[in-house]
Amino acid sequence: MAALICEVVYRGIFQKNLAARIVRGIVLSARKSDRWGIAFGRYGDSPQRNGIPAKDFAIVADSKEELEQNMARYEPKHVDVTICVDDTLSKGVESWAWYGLQPINRLTVPNGTVLMTSLQSFDQLLEDIHKKDAPYKLSLIRAKASFSGLWVYKEDHTEVRILGALAKIAPSFLKLAGVCEAIAEMEWGSDLKVASARKSYDRLETREVKLTEGNTEIPYSFEMPKWWEMREGVTIPAIPIGKPKEGGQGYVPERNPYFKKFTTRTMRPVIDFDTCVKCNLCWISCPDSCFDVMPDATFDANMEACCGCGVCEAVCPVENCITMVNESVFEDNASQWEMWRKDKAAYKTWLITKIGDKKATARSHGFRFRGQYEEELKRDLDVGGVEIAAGIPGENAQHKTAGESEGA
Ligand code: SF4
Ligand code: SF4
Repeated sequence: MAALICEVVYRGIFQKNLAARIVRGIVLSARKSDRWGIAFGRYGDSPQRNGIPAKDFAIVADSKEELEQNMARYEPKHVDVTICVDDTLSKGVESWAWYGLQPINRLTVPNGTVLMTSLQSFDQLLEDIHKKDAPYKLSLIRAKASFSGLWVYKEDHTEVRILGALAKIAPSFLKLAGVCEAIAEMEWGSDLKVASARKSYDRLETREVKLTEGNTEIPYSFEMPKWWEMREGVTIPAIPIGKPKEGGQGYVPERNPYFKKFTTRTMRPVIDFDTCVKCNLCWISCPDSCFDVMPDATFDANMEACCGCGVCEAVCPVENCITMVNESVFEDNASQWEMWRKDKAAYKTWLITKIGDKKATARSHGFRFRGQYEEELKRDLDVGGVEIAAGIPGENAQHKTAGESEGA
């Protein structure tokens, strides 16, 4: 008797439907492979929030009895495969319902697999993925993070690519033929999606990760309140008033001291303080009160509070003053304003490097038009969506298109 336990770590709201389709696909593929399966979610219920990590689980078992035994647990404490469909989650996972930062590989069993969609190299990813006390495998499907699933599901084949890869990782539970049969049934006989799954099966890149490899940072944690410290009834204290920044000037709003949003964003704002016209729009519009008002009346986005929604970039009236940049190119959460104050010339160089990186500033939100996937197949881009940044209303992003050369 044996079981295959998978978790899908996804960005709340943006990847909700994508994750649901992956776990549903696992269960259907299991049935087509003469196995039993079940899927369920955790932390994805209200208050699911934009970008905040959530999880779905899928369990595949040899027999109904084995499946029931696994279902008796509230949620799996260990998983054979951790599936991650946004590689910026390699920095860790911090859900509204967890307590501090979880390394992405925390639940992965020794010699288990972390399966990721990414265009980064193994070594680049291992700079972010925390060290684990056991060896495991890192498997990559070459693709961008897919943000195709808000309330509707815009197609980009990520879910079938994951299923094809799983057939390679766990062939005794999910047979490639079973996966293909399930996809054909789910997708009304789409040969194209079956071809995608097969391609992912063939092209999956896997590398062993040794005990010594990975990010040595100690993940952020805090002491949970004891039950005897809880107050009677349900009371939620109001957020206290903030404080001046320094010398009685500026303003730092009070924030949740426990819920840091280090890992909730795929992109973060990079601010050009030299061109800021101090219009306040970013400060007013930010849904998470991220901006500190600095003593010179510019605004610094606090990286412990920013969830990476991109609203500030959309409202900023100055070209290139706020630019959203992929989280993977940053090593820390330090204040940009302090860096700028210390050395303005060095900051300018840093800023130009960050916002000039077309791969880090372009984004894909899934396929935009019928036939896009066929077009990509023809060009053999295999990167999970061509750039669509130019022309998105309000994204201030005309200059961000990666252009034809990428991935070609
Ligand atoms: S991206 Fe901008 S608006 Fe959104 S949370 Fe971060 S600072 Fe606030
Ligand atoms: S919206 Fe742009 S210009 Fe206005 S205060 Fe914010 S950073 Fe400065």
